[in-house]
Amino acid sequence: MSHFLERLTYLSRRRESFADGHGELRDEDRLWEEGYRQRWQHDKIVRSTHGVNCTGSCSWKIYVKSGVVTWETQQTDYPRTRPGMPNHEPRGCSRGASYSWYLYSASRIKYPMVRGRLVKAWREARKTLPPVEARAAITADARTAKGYKAIRGTFTTQVMMKPDEPIIDVKYIDGPFKYLSNIWGFEPASDGCFVRFFIDYEFKSRILGAMMGTMFDRAFRMFSEAFEKRADVIYGKDG
Ligand code: SF4
Repeated sequence: MSHFLERLTYLSRRRESFADGHGELRDEDRLWEEGYRQRWQHDKIVRSTHGVNCTGSCSWKIYVKSGVVTWETQQTDYPRTRPGMPNHEPRGCSRGASYSWYLYSASRIKYPMVRGRLVKAWREARKTLPPVEARAAITADARTAKGYKAIRGTFTTQVMMKPDEPIIDVKYIDGPFKYLSNIWGFEPASDGCFVRFFIDYEFKSRILGAMMGTMFDRAFRMFSEAFEKRADVIYGKDG
């Protein structure tokens, strides 16, 4: 019976109560329950674990249907380590318990993120060139490079050295920031010196701020590498 016809017979349906009216037996279509049953079907169970920046060593039962992970439960066959000690089960965290959702999530990043224009230029270059030459051709072509480096920008700062403190104070002059505060501090050590780095900033544009926030680590590494390179040039590697 279709769902629509079934609804039409709702009032004329046979009902039987039990348990002093607390329960009711009904004569109605329960096909909709199949969806829930199918959700938990599987044709094999395999042992596995996860690798999400943890130790990746909890043992899990993975239920698989037609090659697709449908759900998972914790394994319960850990041996006891010694008499009198409780066993380790169940072992596994909530991240692990929801891993099959993560596995097939539409928002999961499966490929490196790369700008569309760069991919297009790469595919074009790869039609005629091997990988290394293709990369060289793209970076050497000013017009192509301009296309995929469109987000690049510049800013101006005044860098003041204060040897008495001793710090380098970087004053923000002009650029995409609402404010930028950057201080380098130096402390003598037996075999060189400790360098302390402090930076605080906010972009004028919220969109740019959100985009750059994810790239902060890379930007910071570039900052410190440029600093080290310059120090090596001026003072030498052992300076
Ligand atoms: S259950 Fe949690 S801690 Fe254990 S392997 Fe999986 S993600 Fe890592």
